Amino acid sequence: MSRNDLAIVVVDDMPLACEATCLLLESIDYLNVRTAYSASQALALLIERPADVVLTDWNMPEMDGLELTRRIRQVDEDANHYTSIIMVTATDNLESMLLAFQHGIDDYMTKPLRKQELAARLHAAGRIAGLQNRLIDTAQTLDAHNKQLQELATTDPLTGLGNRRYLQTHLDAILAETMARGGVACLALIDLDHFKVINDTHGHGVGDEVLVAAARRLHRAARPTDIVARIGGEEFAVIMHYPKMNRCHTEAFERILHDIGQHPIKTTAGDIFLTASAGVCDYVSGGALPTPEALINCADIKLYQAKAQGRNRVVF
Ligand code: GH3
Ligand code: MG
Ligand code: MG
Repeated sequence: MSRNDLAIVVVDDMPLACEATCLLLESIDYLNVRTAYSASQALALLIERPADVVLTDWNMPEMDGLELTRRIRQVDEDANHYTSIIMVTATDNLESMLLAFQHGIDDYMTKPLRKQELAARLHAAGRIAGLQNRLIDTAQTLDAHNKQLQELATTDPLTGLGNRRYLQTHLDAILAETMARGGVACLALIDLDHFKVINDTHGHGVGDEVLVAAARRLHRAARPTDIVARIGGEEFAVIMHYPKMNRCHTEAFERILHDIGQHPIKTTAGDIFLTASAGVCDYVSGGALPTPEALINCADIKLYQAKAQGRNRVVF
């Protein structure tokens, strides 16, 4: 950061003292300087546009430099910013200096300010603010990347639904919540019927179109609070949690299958009819808590039965 770039706010209830400091700053090439004659005016300036360094007087009516420091830290926290604060005071004793540092200042200078010392302290203050703000930026960028990665790691790229990992995480959480708060957790595994025929007849690309359309129908048929995932090639899962009931609505899953099969799916190869089968298992609060894997296995066995019984049905 070059000298001229450093944004400085000078706070002093004595206009003459402010002016003297500003002249001194100007003489050492600091030109981006704003002045405030009270702590609240300084806060308003900082909210309007953050500064790199605040040079503040200690004793001021209404709000003193210590309280101003506390308030600046709050404003900084809200704005994800760091302001380097230099307390400037006539009081030259160790106790006040320690007190000021305990209140979170970065540096301490006694009046009258001397030009060379001010230049040196500002140089250091600017460096601290620059480093801290770069750190804050890096942390924010990392945070955003982590969120993105997390989303990529739990999203199925073809349909945009959650993937198997997404299902497992939510199943774990919903089972724990059902145990703690009551109700029932219902897991359905839903597998498209004779999907291989679609691939074999029309090609993999059309198969993908059908998968995307089926995923959309599934998502629309479920409630917004239900967890819907694509956990394998043409296999989907839905978790429904009913906090105030002790059994699953099989009708809800029958409705989902009905919605998937109701109309033909429009594809580039023409209309394709599709049905699906589902296996449902539940965990009712108060019973032995199954692992997510055990509940998935249970639903898988029911799904196999639905296929064996002729497909296009729910087995519970
Ligand atoms: P069933 O009624 O018994 O479930 O028969 P099915 O043909 O649906 O089941 P099967 O497991 O025999 O075949 C599933 C097919 O799904 C085989 C595989 O090539 C296909 N598949 C898996 N993933 C994808 C995908 O991402 N895109 C497409 N187009 N096909 C996929
Ligand atoms: Mg299938
Ligand atoms: Mg399958």
